[in-house]
Amino acid sequence: MIKNFGNLFIVPTPIGNISDITYRAIETLKKIDYIASENYKKTLRLLNNFNIKKPIISLHQHNEFKNIKKIISNLLKKKNIALVSEAGTPTINDPGFLLIRECHFKKIKIIPLPGACSIITALSASGIPSNRFCFEGFIPSKKKERIKKIKSLKFEERTIIFFETARRIKKSLKELLKEFGENRKITIARELTKYWESIYCNKISYIFNKYKKNKIICKGEIVLIISGYNKKKKISEKIKKTLKILKKYFSLKKTALLTSKIHKIKKNSLYKYLLKKQNNDKNKKLL
Ligand code: SAM
Repeated sequence: MIKNFGNLFIVPTPIGNISDITYRAIETLKKIDYIASENYKKTLRLLNNFNIKKPIISLHQHNEFKNIKKIISNLLKKKNIALVSEAGTPTINDPGFLLIRECHFKKIKIIPLPGACSIITALSASGIPSNRFCFEGFIPSKKKERIKKIKSLKFEERTIIFFETARRIKKSLKELLKEFGENRKITIARELTKYWESIYCNKISYIFNKYKKNKIICKGEIVLIISGYNKKKKISEKIKKTLKILKKYFSLKKTALLTSKIHKIKKNSLYKYLLKKQNNDKNKKLL
């Protein structure tokens, strides 16, 4: 049962284009008592833009734990508070989760407003299936962790979303190409809603080559969208050729295993394909 305290409003802010603020967000920021913000300067600039004057207290990664007490105590005193982040939707890879959890615990009403979010904006334009997806945050910066993370998602069937920095994108593309293979589709959504907005969608190999040749600008904020692992992958002509050659020298099992290693795909589907083909060939001979 929600108690009669103040309300906590979750207010998304633009990820670039200031016009992406919603009417409801402006109305909310006008009526609340104060704002808990991840970035004081950015929030002040936003408020100035819309002629809103409200006190701002800081709530970021390093003081979240400490400042929650203060915010909760004000909510309990019936103050209405808006939570905003540096850009986009608060709590989505931004501070706020601990505060929201505490509000649930204290039965304080939470009112989330829909609005700008780089993940959803990128996904909507990605040209990659968006009916099932997982968001994996930033690709780790350290090589070992990066490889581990990418390897762990190799057989993820849902569309995969990452944040990445312009500085590390080439390294990540190289690993993605190595682990996911050249045919996986990738969309790079860069500087969304801003002047230099660009959205590239192609095979990983194609995008990686473009980056290698500096044909894609390596600056700005980036969301990466990668198509999920296709369980029922069609066996390409190239793979069929490898199977045909190896089959002359090895058993079906060994042929499937070696081909799976060469082309980095699951051996079971290759083995099933070989068995089916063998049966079909036998049947043809009988006719
Ligand atoms: N809460 C935010 C949201 O809802 O979009 C995400 C915050 S996260 C700390 C910041 C990352 O989001 C950036 O490093 C970048 O990967 C992505 N991002 C934010 N704005 C973006 C934009 N305009 N274009 C592309 N990516 C963006």
